[in-house]
Amino acid sequence: MASSVRPLVFLDVDGVLLPFGGTRPAAPILDPAEDDHPLLHRLDRSLGPLLLGLDADLVWATTWMADANDLLAPRLGLPPLPVVDFLEDDDPGSRLHWKTRALVAWAGDRPFAWLDDELTDVDREWIEARHTRPALAYKVVSTVGLTRADLDAVARWLDRVSSG
Ligand SMILES: [Mg+2]
Repeated sequence: MASSVRPLVFLDVDGVLLPFGGTRPAAPILDPAEDDHPLLHRLDRSLGPLLLGLDADLVWATTWMADANDLLAPRLGLPPLPVVDFLEDDDPGSRLHWKTRALVAWAGDRPFAWLDDELTDVDREWIEARHTRPALAYKVVSTVGLTRADLDAVARWLDRVSSG
């Protein structure tokens, strides 16, 4: 790739890998851990290889923190991924998402795509004003969760970043 730094993909879990809607039928419970988390059966394991195929480094950006590596990564066939350590929201009244500052800081000078169901134009504008490299704040529909079409769009954006 032309760019010297590999882009990052920040991954949210709730409303992204685990949709809130009831459109995905409940799968049989295969192991006790799925009993412990009411949404874990909604994980679409076929997304794992697609995520792994992105030309980027995957990073968890979720309140699941290390549990994402324990419970989700193995089901998706992903290796353990870095986890963004979020600080307490220092401006809870702001319309800026509580993750946004931490993600931009974590990304440093690397391009990044952020897949989340809660981000807004406030976040896009904040990122645009501060991040010096390309950034894609990609909103996933929480009731549907991350789809192949979403990942196609992200892959196309990563292609443009690496060739531009
Ligand atoms: Mg979410």
